[in-house]
Amino acid sequence: MALPLNPPLADLASDASTAFREAFGSEPTLHAAAPGRVNLIGEHIDYCDGFVMPFAIERYIVFAARANGTPEAHIGSTGQDLVTLDLSKRKEPGIPKWANYIRGVIRGFQDRGHHIPGFDAWIVSSVPLGAGLSSSAALECAAATLLEGLLDTVMETKEKALLAQKAEHDFAGVPCGIMDQFASAFGQANRLVLIDCQSGEPELVPFENPDLTVLIANTMVHHELSDGGYAARRKNTEDGLAILGKPSWRDVEMSDVEAKWDELGEPVNRRARHVVSEIARTIGAAKSLKQNDFEALGPLMAASHDSLRDDFEVSCKELDIMVEIARSIGRSGGVIGARMTGGGFGGSTVTLCESGRASEIAETMAAEYEKATGIKPEIFASRPSRGAHLF
Ligand code: ADP
Ligand code: MG
Repeated sequence: MALPLNPPLADLASDASTAFREAFGSEPTLHAAAPGRVNLIGEHIDYCDGFVMPFAIERYIVFAARANGTPEAHIGSTGQDLVTLDLSKRKEPGIPKWANYIRGVIRGFQDRGHHIPGFDAWIVSSVPLGAGLSSSAALECAAATLLEGLLDTVMETKEKALLAQKAEHDFAGVPCGIMDQFASAFGQANRLVLIDCQSGEPELVPFENPDLTVLIANTMVHHELSDGGYAARRKNTEDGLAILGKPSWRDVEMSDVEAKWDELGEPVNRRARHVVSEIARTIGAAKSLKQNDFEALGPLMAASHDSLRDDFEVSCKELDIMVEIARSIGRSGGVIGARMTGGGFGGSTVTLCESGRASEIAETMAAEYEKATGIKPEIFASRPSRGAHLF
């Protein structure tokens, strides 16, 4: 099995231009792109003042656009009906729902005093929808970048990411952390985006070695528990912190958790152990990468997965199977580390592996996973890629 290609940005732009010409009968003058993201390590600790270390993937949402001299935006996306937005009004959420991500971004610019000129735009995407790779953040960050281009202004990257996050909160009703929009906005080629979720500051961590790549394997399952499970875990961590009597999880040591193990009780004590250990693992992973020690990521990713499975209980049979297959291929087969990624209860895994063997590893993972579950997974490779930009 050849790994599916990540379509070059130039190809996406060309597809967007073709669709734009068909829809609007003129040439686009601007192209804006923003990528999806995947998290390498640091799971379920963004809401615990922890660290996360995602990167922008080589999958993008691209807008082709042109000012149209009217007070309206006309926006198309392949497979959707054309949407008209009246830019003379402050934007509120509406239908169709997919355009809410864009309405929310427009509103963010309006709230900053910008008057948005009318424009026509067409969207194409290589970010799989709803696969936990944050097509929604890609759409928001691409839209914000397009508006920067139309207004001929440049917003600070952090402000742009926060504006995009607010669009997701207020217009899509998803109370997400800062990881997705920060990764899509700050991502760079050969860099991971280490985010300190307490200070809200990103730091770019080198991922230069071309001999390494990351396989992203979609289990194609989504268990019902997803939403309720997420809320319950957040509650567990809030309860735990209150019992520990600390202002932040960053002030909690493992010895504090051990000292109050019985008082924390089941399952809050195990949730606490995950949070404290995962923060340490993520700091450790960043430190190892800065010293170009990729091998150290293997045990850290393994411990992260085990902790998410056993202590935080957000994995599922399919994620465990996918990770086990990668583990059994092992270091001698070119696999450095593997773990579930994202919120859990389904979704994708990440496997850090040798670039030259990625195809062969993906083939084994796909075949073994299908044999074990009867489900055909979708697997592709990505190295850290460039964040939102105009081109
Ligand atoms: P994820 O962010 O994990 O991919 P979400 O449910 O948060 O999943 O976001 C997916 C939603 O984002 C889609 O249902 C759609 O509304 C919107 N979206 C993403 N990509 C596009 C696109 N190319 N065109 C139109 N809408 C899109
Ligand atoms: Mg999303």
